[in-house]
Amino acid sequence: MKVFKFGGASVSSAESIKNVGTIISSFPTEQIIVVVSAMGKTTNALEKLAEVFFKGESTQKDLDAIIQYHFKIIAEIFDNTLSKAEHTLRFFDKLSEYLQREPSENFNYEYDQIVSYGELISASLLSEYLNFIGISNKWVDARYIIRTDNNYREGNVNWVKTEQKIKKQILTAEASIIITQGFIAGTDEYTTTTLGREGSDYSAAIFGYSLNATDVTIWKDVPGLLNADPKYFPDAIKLDKISYKEAIELAYYGATIIHPKTIKPLQNKSIPLRVKSFYNFKAPGSIICNESNSNRTPCYIFKRNQALISIYPIDFSFIAEENLSLIFGLFAHFGVKINLMQNSAISFSVCVDYKPEALNDLIEELNTEFNVKYNLNLELITIRNYDQQTIDKVVKNRKIFTEQKSRTTIQLVVET
Ligand code: ASP
Ligand code: MG
Repeated sequence: MKVFKFGGASVSSAESIKNVGTIISSFPTEQIIVVVSAMGKTTNALEKLAEVFFKGESTQKDLDAIIQYHFKIIAEIFDNTLSKAEHTLRFFDKLSEYLQREPSENFNYEYDQIVSYGELISASLLSEYLNFIGISNKWVDARYIIRTDNNYREGNVNWVKTEQKIKKQILTAEASIIITQGFIAGTDEYTTTTLGREGSDYSAAIFGYSLNATDVTIWKDVPGLLNADPKYFPDAIKLDKISYKEAIELAYYGATIIHPKTIKPLQNKSIPLRVKSFYNFKAPGSIICNESNSNRTPCYIFKRNQALISIYPIDFSFIAEENLSLIFGLFAHFGVKINLMQNSAISFSVCVDYKPEALNDLIEELNTEFNVKYNLNLELITIRNYDQQTIDKVVKNRKIFTEQKSRTTIQLVVET
């Protein structure tokens, strides 16, 4: 049994949905669990819709834009026979109905109820399209089988219940193609939750793990795992084979190619994770597996728009455990994630994503106990398998604010 995950870009147009059909039909003898993300940039559009709804403003304009985008594609793939998309169209009615209600006081709850429609619609559409072209399949609602707590927008998976539910639903389904949704899940009370942005990869791993899949494939618009984001680094090259450990490290430092929670469940069962191009679906792509010859190719991760905050005790005492525990507590409280930290005798510095709302509150609070200085407009560069030449190539004589080295990894905070 295989798990395929198709991200937003692979189902963003009529043409790309047809291409997904071609890819699936090229595996005629396999049982495949297909995990689908929302089409194109739909999740962003739904996020905006959720915000407008929560504020109590009119949602009509934003909803219409989402409907129009999808209807155009529906008309195209079903040769204008909208009735072929009956199941999908019902989700638009349900969403419109939901928006007629008064929002509750819990934004994260409302967010999940609304944003989850992106995946419900895309998966339903793919299922109906496959039926239309003669590939029979079964639609499975992930909200009833991936079980989480009610930590809306970042549900924590109950692995025992999830594994049971998935096995029961999928192993008894008499279909070789199962279509389900990425990113969405549900509580024991059947309330919809989501797994965090870009969480569809994680969903694919949850299915792969629970079903002991032979492999999990993420279909993308790039030839495989690259050693840098080609948007920032035109010379990016493909990594053919890397270890789970290396992949976890890369994801930890912010490589955006795979959702960071994806690797661990697969590693636990030694299930290979493939990353392949949906444009060139016969090409081998990359594979992440139990590989002992670990990758030696330098890998680059760039994080723009960083802030470096330096914290000094007011009385010039040393930075000690009590200070650190207070500081970490405040970072956790304001939800500010630390990308890099460094301490000296009298200061503690952290590099974080520059998100003004949370950061201003945090700095205000820190200022009551410490002296705080900060620099903005910085870039955090991480290089795995670095050497001096690779460092010079990316730093390009820019001012370095702080630098941290281990045997395999260097991190530099530089001006942009
Ligand atoms: N549609 C969701 C998002 O855009 C989940 C995913 O694509 O993985 O964040
Ligand atoms: Mg996506």
